[in-house]
Amino acid sequence: MSYFHILGFPRIGAQRQLKWALESYWRGDSSLDELLDTAAQVRVDNWQQQIDHGADLLTVGDFALYDHMLNASYLFGHLPQRVDSSLPVYDQLFLAGRGRSQCGCGVAAGEMTKWFDTNYHYLVPECSAADEFHLQPELLLEEVRAARKTGKRLKVVLPGPLTYLYLGRSVDGSDRLDLLPRLLPLYSELFEQLSQEGVDWVQLDEPVLALDLPEAWRFAFEPAYFALRKSGLSVLLATYFGDLNENLSLAFSLPVDGVHLDLVSGAGQLSRALDLLGPYKVLSLGVVDGRNIWRSDLDACLAVLKPLAQQLDQRLWLAPSCSLLHVPVDASTEPVLTDGVQQWLAFAIQKLDECALLRNALADGEVVASARWREQAALIQHRRQSTAVNRQQAKQRATEAAAVTWGRNTPYRERLKLQQEVLRLPLLPTTTIGSFPQTQEIRTLRRDYRNGRVTPEEYGAGLASEIARCIRVQEQIGLDVLVHGEAERNDMVEYFGEQLQGIASTANGWVQSYGSRCVKPPVIYGDIERPNSMTVAWSRYAQSLTERPVKGMLTGPVTILKWSFVRDDQPWSATAYQLAAVLRDEVSELEASGISVIQVDEPALREALPLRRAEHQAYLNWAVNSFRYCVSGVADSTQIHTHMCYADFDDILPAIEAMDADVITLETARSASGLLKTLAQTPYANGIGPGVYDIHSPNVPSAEAMEDILLRSLALVRAEDLWVNPDCGLKTRRWEEVVPALEAMVAVAARCREVV
Ligand code: GLN
Ligand code: ZN
Repeated sequence: MSYFHILGFPRIGAQRQLKWALESYWRGDSSLDELLDTAAQVRVDNWQQQIDHGADLLTVGDFALYDHMLNASYLFGHLPQRVDSSLPVYDQLFLAGRGRSQCGCGVAAGEMTKWFDTNYHYLVPECSAADEFHLQPELLLEEVRAARKTGKRLKVVLPGPLTYLYLGRSVDGSDRLDLLPRLLPLYSELFEQLSQEGVDWVQLDEPVLALDLPEAWRFAFEPAYFALRKSGLSVLLATYFGDLNENLSLAFSLPVDGVHLDLVSGAGQLSRALDLLGPYKVLSLGVVDGRNIWRSDLDACLAVLKPLAQQLDQRLWLAPSCSLLHVPVDASTEPVLTDGVQQWLAFAIQKLDECALLRNALADGEVVASARWREQAALIQHRRQSTAVNRQQAKQRATEAAAVTWGRNTPYRERLKLQQEVLRLPLLPTTTIGSFPQTQEIRTLRRDYRNGRVTPEEYGAGLASEIARCIRVQEQIGLDVLVHGEAERNDMVEYFGEQLQGIASTANGWVQSYGSRCVKPPVIYGDIERPNSMTVAWSRYAQSLTERPVKGMLTGPVTILKWSFVRDDQPWSATAYQLAAVLRDEVSELEASGISVIQVDEPALREALPLRRAEHQAYLNWAVNSFRYCVSGVADSTQIHTHMCYADFDDILPAIEAMDADVITLETARSASGLLKTLAQTPYANGIGPGVYDIHSPNVPSAEAMEDILLRSLALVRAEDLWVNPDCGLKTRRWEEVVPALEAMVAVAARCREVV
């Protein structure tokens, strides 16, 4: 009989209990005990779900109050040195995760970065040559002891040693791999203790095996795993997020008791894996999509599993493809959504159910005749054939768009002349990225409107007055290209999702982004159409209030795609072209209503890059072309801007150039020098605004620092191509911070104009 297990469960809680408990504790409104009670209850609930669904192993150690990599750093006694190790445990964790800036005794927060190509952020382990590790297993052991009370067999999840170090960052330029011999004994020590606690299995997550690993790291796997003393535990090597390719045989050569493969993102590796499996190892197959929210096609999964079940029997395990951290908890509580989309959804709990069904169907052929199985098959069919999913015109338009390489009519420098005739901007024009402070009043107004507490008229009047204030302030500050401030947008993706056909918003589809932060990604379920214009009225209104140009503001196709749950029934590129088509129409309408500068934000272009280099070019081709499709319907005299929140863009510079926006504004908060270095090596041909004001900090930037970035940029960029702007939207800042900062920025631009 086959087993089923999961790699990890969401830890924020079905009602986001952990979020509320964390934030209340941080505010000082509740005690640590209350927080820990909530956390313990979430863990118990998660285990109970697994038990109720008949999981064969209970997964433990996947929980984290803040982040699982931070937990690992604590476990190995490897928190950054600035975190005082004599503090109580939870203070250490939160200090390392969140930092402490207000009091004079500032402790910087740890660096966060995206977990592979997901939208989850982990805390990057900080490594240096002198690092020593020591085991601090008490938090984990407490969880194990609590889980043991269930009487179930336990599997403890840990980041594997190579993944832990690879995902770290060296703070002193030393080689992280040198730390491996110091780290490995801690795993052995921990295994010994887990074994004494009655644990059966350890799941070592080594998702780095799905990356293009440098040779030295690949070669480190074998000796490392041979050095681990397992103390009678069985070890499952868990991989996910892609086909292991050249690392597949490596994975199976390791002295472990089982290997988990992600068959959703790497279906092609199964036959090779079977050749490599050998007579003893367990093969855990991730057949249920752990990252997306669609019900599984159980018949298709069964077709893969069934031939293997006889052959492998207990050595065949089945599971979601990766940890369920990346999906919301429970789809059964969703109300009726647009086009009945809720019927097609499976969140974490439903995925447990699917795994259980599959396992049961392997053991008992009758299961496929059960009402539950047949219901699922009918829903899969329903979704496939739904007219809400299939809109022929949208399909056709996207296909046609994909067949052409799009572009503007004339080269940038000629366009610039025509644009200047319209815009008449000074040298070093000043602008912002789009959003202005989202005050409590704006949030309340939007919420009241949603709840029906204010009428559409009152809502419209409220927004209009906010936009008017935003325009007035920008004029007073003396900015050259204005924005309407985005007060009507809760979120730069959701705002568009709510207005487009083929995209649904869930009621409770929250997933953890980092710490207590959660996001509720829209669900792209069908072919996309735009019943009405989405931004034109507010842009036109804003433009009516001023002589200066007001930028129209849109979110680009790749960003909408990347920050949503996407269709699994067509390639991403097809969805991107559909989004580009509706955005292209919006761009044309903006232009027709007198908007002469239009910005299409693509902050996710860089982060949607595939994990494997071999796939980069194909991705960039459609990503760039979908952007060009979106913006190439306008006259040469209309100026197209784009914005990206990413400074390390050297690896995709050719793609950014190929986007051929008239102006790109970029984030520099993490490293202005990095961006300038890139520009020094590879001159950028079109207009560019390296962010001079780091909006991520509440401090008003010093004029010297802004001037420094500008003057250094002037040495690398033609004056007529250089823009002056903050490095991202201002929505998280307060007006008191923003006004003086922008005044200073405008003054710096004026000073620099005199020296060019
Ligand atoms: N226009 C958006 C804003 O200003 C861009 C946000 C972003 O880059 N993430 O908020
Ligand atoms: Zn940004």
